Amino acid sequence: MEQQDKHIQLNDGNRMPLLGLGTWKAFQQAPVQPAVEAAIAAGYRHIDTAFSYRNEVEIGKALRSKMEQGIIRREDVFIVSKLWCTHFDPEDIPVCLNRSLQDLQLDYLDLYLIHFPVGFKKSGDDLFPRKDGKIVTSDTDYVDVWRGLEALQAAGRVKSIGVSNFSVLQLERLLALCRVPPAVNQVELHPYMVQKDLVEFCRSRNIALTAYSPFGSPGRPSELKRGEADPHKLLQDPVVADIAGKHHRSPAQVLLRFHVQQRIPVIPKSDKPHHILENTKVGPNRTSPEPFPQIVPERSRLGPKLPARDSFWCQERRHGTGGRDPSLGGLTCLRFSPTRLRRARLSGSSGKTDPVLPELPVVLTQREPRRSSTSTSAKTTWTP
Ligand code: NDP
Repeated sequence: MEQQDKHIQLNDGNRMPLLGLGTWKAFQQAPVQPAVEAAIAAGYRHIDTAFSYRNEVEIGKALRSKMEQGIIRREDVFIVSKLWCTHFDPEDIPVCLNRSLQDLQLDYLDLYLIHFPVGFKKSGDDLFPRKDGKIVTSDTDYVDVWRGLEALQAAGRVKSIGVSNFSVLQLERLLALCRVPPAVNQVELHPYMVQKDLVEFCRSRNIALTAYSPFGSPGRPSELKRGEADPHKLLQDPVVADIAGKHHRSPAQVLLRFHVQQRIPVIPKSDKPHHILENTKVGPNRTSPEPFPQIVPERSRLGPKLPARDSFWCQERRHGTGGRDPSLGGLTCLRFSPTRLRRARLSGSSGKTDPVLPELPVVLTQREPRRSSTSTSAKTTWTP
């Protein structure tokens, strides 16, 4: 990546590379080891994985091979993994981490995240335990899970700790009740889902955001997509194409630039060496006639604009009924609706002292206006 500083500093003093390789593969279509090796050769020093991706053995082999070749040392790479929702009980938290460490052939992680704010009932090795077709969630409070991560950090097993798919409300509650603030919140972020409130909140509290699915996750199988409102066509957006054309960059590079210019770490997934390399080149192109613009999607007509609760990973459709979140008075925390939130606000929390509840920001859940696909026109630009 050709920009001045390729890292950001986390609130615990550790440094995190801005560009990372995403490794989630729907149904494991292609092997991950060659992709990680290609990424390291292309200069990536940040790899994102998770217990639930079931690819950590392969990633471990890639890391080991590059270390044995003398291309990287352990301290050169920033490895992120995530605690899966079936391992939220106190005794299961180190079990999940140890499994990831063993598979990755590492003795510490650089960053460990709570994958979702909702636990699932443990049922053997099942990642998505179901009953009558619905995922069976548990009542484990993510605040207790967080204390488990604090203990792992204190023991030196993980350098930094953070969360994923947490809302402002959930972060406020965590900040109010915990000793160590989360260093990172990894969420879906791209010009169709700008999450302005969350970005501003995290910036004000010195919590770094990582942007996942920066291209709208076009590789997802069709059953995980939601028709016209789904962001999987982001790479084909005419506004993106227009900027890319003007600046001699590809649509993918423009979409990555959107995060990098805000100094938000971003983790595009690819298993194609030419894409992996292309995704590192997000700075101004020297052959471009104009400087790269600041991309401000709020001021553009590209669309659709999706509210955070429409994140394809955070829906009841995929995650059953959702878990019970004490900060919402025991309501589901995977899918908010304004009515439910207002009701939660009136009814108070489920017995726990929660300093945040009186300030529940109902506005969080309001839909940003949907724009019709015809409003996306090439003459509209992202402006400085
Ligand atoms: P992305 O938005 O990164 O899109 C990946 C798709 O884009 C693949 O199909 C890839 O195809 C394609 N692609 C990559 N580079 C290019 C390019 N230069 N030109 C054209 N197409 C390209 O989707 P993901 O959902 O995978 O998100 C990225 C990562 O974020 C995940 O892999 C995972 O690590 C993380 N994540 C975290 C979640 C969480 O809950 N914390 C949830 C979802 C994702 P190809 O491989 O053929 O290049």
